[in-house]
Amino acid sequence: MDRFDVCIGGAGVIGLALSYQLLKSFPKASVVLIEQESSFGQHTSSRLSEVIHAGIYYPPGSLKAKLCVEGKASLYEFCDTYRVPYRQIGKLIISQSDSDTTLTSLERNAKSNGVHDLEYWTEDRIRIAEPAIRAKSALFSPSTGIVDSHQLMTSLLGLSEQKGLLFAPRTKITSVHPYGQGFELDTRIYDGRKPKTYKFKAKWFINCAGLWSQQLAETIENLPASCIPRRFLCKGDYFDYQGTNPFTHLIYPLPDPKLAGLGIHSTQDLSGRLRFGPDAEYIDAVDYRITSNKRNAFAQAIRRYFPALEADKLTPAYAGVRPKISGPGDQPGDFVIAGPKESGVPGLVQLFGIESPGLTASLSIGSSITQLIKQISL
Ligand SMILES: Cc1cc2nc3c(=O)[nH]c(=O)nc-3n(C[C@H](O)[C@H](O)[C@H](O)COP(=O)(O)OP(=O)(O)OC[C@H]3O[C@@H](n4cnc5c(N)ncnc54)[C@H](O)[C@@H]3O)c2cc1C
Repeated sequence: MDRFDVCIGGAGVIGLALSYQLLKSFPKASVVLIEQESSFGQHTSSRLSEVIHAGIYYPPGSLKAKLCVEGKASLYEFCDTYRVPYRQIGKLIISQSDSDTTLTSLERNAKSNGVHDLEYWTEDRIRIAEPAIRAKSALFSPSTGIVDSHQLMTSLLGLSEQKGLLFAPRTKITSVHPYGQGFELDTRIYDGRKPKTYKFKAKWFINCAGLWSQQLAETIENLPASCIPRRFLCKGDYFDYQGTNPFTHLIYPLPDPKLAGLGIHSTQDLSGRLRFGPDAEYIDAVDYRITSNKRNAFAQAIRRYFPALEADKLTPAYAGVRPKISGPGDQPGDFVIAGPKESGVPGLVQLFGIESPGLTASLSIGSSITQLIKQISL
């Protein structure tokens, strides 16, 4: 039977960033990255805003705050080194009041997270920079940017393969059997004809299956149910805007604590194409379908800060689904990175709830799992 040092389940941006960080630290390790789809990044990692977040919103001391701030720096450095396209265009969090306490508390929160570069902007300052925006005050975050997430994942995969990563697309992990110091894994390979089964061994198994982390965890023999947090799916739709893009920055409304996301904001890709979203809707099963039914609700939300919006120029674009571990009305959950100590299973690391800012944090998540493996031994 084939044996690997590490098996990573799931080739989204997290599995790819982990492969890269692992092989940078352990160049001689044998690492296999298993992906059920025909290519990498077909789910959450390609259905997102592509924003490099600054680290403003997350509770101080949380993994989200720590890994976002560290990950942002690592991501900009990675993009510079490997020529991954990005633009540090900055972001405005806008308010319709000139003495908004939410902005002040966001700034305080950001400082506690190590983000010290926020600027408070007045209505006049906003009007000069973003004449199409209606707002009385804003927080400007200069370190926020946008990145080509597909190119990022392509680079992470290429660099990992140069160091010997075995990437196995069209392969689904169907069950995981811990035995003493390692795992025996059952997979099914879908190569167009009849699916084949393939069994192999790995010393470490890292569950990076995103929306399916809980399902994959359930296939781990004898894993106590208490090690598997409940999964909540929260869909976010995006609309493209066919009109001219009047914005030079990303524009975000104030976060609504009752909503599960950051509010319908403007984002743009590297070619400057304007898009709005995502909204937040809890759903029962992963479903990426999107219709124009929400156009009016989107137009209403966007017109609060962009009054000249022409609603008929909003066209349904795509949807992503947040892999949450907290439900409607609950306090937002943190990232969960559960190692052998948490599960009692040597060599097992599981990730749950890797929603936003997971893209920003991907390299730091990869590096923290690598540290965990280093502390124990490969
Ligand atoms: C609407 C939305 C907007 C977002 N915007 C941003 C943003 O602007 N900035 C930011 O930093 N973050 C953002 N995020 C968060 C970010 O997209 C995610 O944190 C990140 O993409 C998660 O990556 P992942 O690798 O964990 O998951 P995924 O990309 O879903 O990858 C998991 C992979 O595991 C595979 N898999 C599952 N089960 C199996 C199995 N049994 N065998 C083999 N393979 C399996 C899946 O096919 C999939 O490819 C956003 C998320 C959403 C939903």
